[in-house]
Amino acid sequence: SRQFTRPLNDLANQFNTLLSAIAGAERVFDILDEEEEKDDQFAESIQTVEGHVSFKEVYFSYNDHDKTIKDLSFNVNAGDTVALVGPTGAGKTTIIHLLSRFYNAQSGQIMIDDRDITSIKRESLREKTGFVLQDSLLFQGTIRENIRYGRLDATDQEVEEAAKQANAYTFISKLPEQFDTVLEQDHTGLSQGQKQLISIARVMLANPSILVLDEATSSIDTITEIKIQEALERLMKGRTSFVIAHRLNTIRRANLILVLRGGKLVEKGTHRELVANQSYYYEMVQQTNDKEVEVF
Ligand code: ADP
Repeated sequence: SRQFTRPLNDLANQFNTLLSAIAGAERVFDILDEEEEKDDQFAESIQTVEGHVSFKEVYFSYNDHDKTIKDLSFNVNAGDTVALVGPTGAGKTTIIHLLSRFYNAQSGQIMIDDRDITSIKRESLREKTGFVLQDSLLFQGTIRENIRYGRLDATDQEVEEAAKQANAYTFISKLPEQFDTVLEQDHTGLSQGQKQLISIARVMLANPSILVLDEATSSIDTITEIKIQEALERLMKGRTSFVIAHRLNTIRRANLILVLRGGKLVEKGTHRELVANQSYYYEMVQQTNDKEVEVF
């Protein structure tokens, strides 16, 4: 299951390369936006997003042969948490790619608050979406700059408040240079978990309506893990969250679980509903026995 999210991680690597090059001077997506990413002529910016999301009979393929996503329909209420689960290659990451329009659905419709996402300017759409990925998207620069990247006009006080909300303030304060600590290219000196907390602080500051979380599968020490979980819960409050989830604890708490297999939605519902179904999800959960381990 370590290979789960390769495409999103590719994206992360792309981010890192770009960010190192520009030292945080500009928004990433301005640079990622290429020629083929031209918005529709009548696309608009969106101001506020409630966070209701729906997919209607969405089909997508990366190539001409196989359909990667087949006939996908689901509805998410604003503020709810969706767990995307299923084996590697099931299409979890692709759903995120479609939601953020790194790729366009070939047919069907994706709506945010009753607006077709193709009618929304990409930049605007992505400003409303926050990403917390397994590989933290940090660049060479100070911790302050890295957090402020979430909202470039934030004051120092706002940056520090976001760090507090993300449970990052305490460890940052203990560093000799505190918020002025320079993260070198390889981010030496910070643990994986600390980097996660910094990226959570950044997203906290950005205050997006929609969240994409790629649940870490690598082991992080228990204390940091608890800090991360707590920070994420704070972050997810009131935002529509899509979690590429591996742990039963996370999955169980979701308002909606989408069980994917080979690009098809095989089951959807709450944990309770899916267990009652005694089908694929139930089988997967049964096999784990233990409540703490990864299910998918
Ligand atoms: P998951 O996140 O559930 O592991 P993905 O959405 O990454 O699944 O992948 C779904 C399918 O699409 C897989 O068969 C994968 O090999 C394929 N795929 C993913 N990204 C690309 C891409 N950029 N180009 C071609 N095929 C891809």
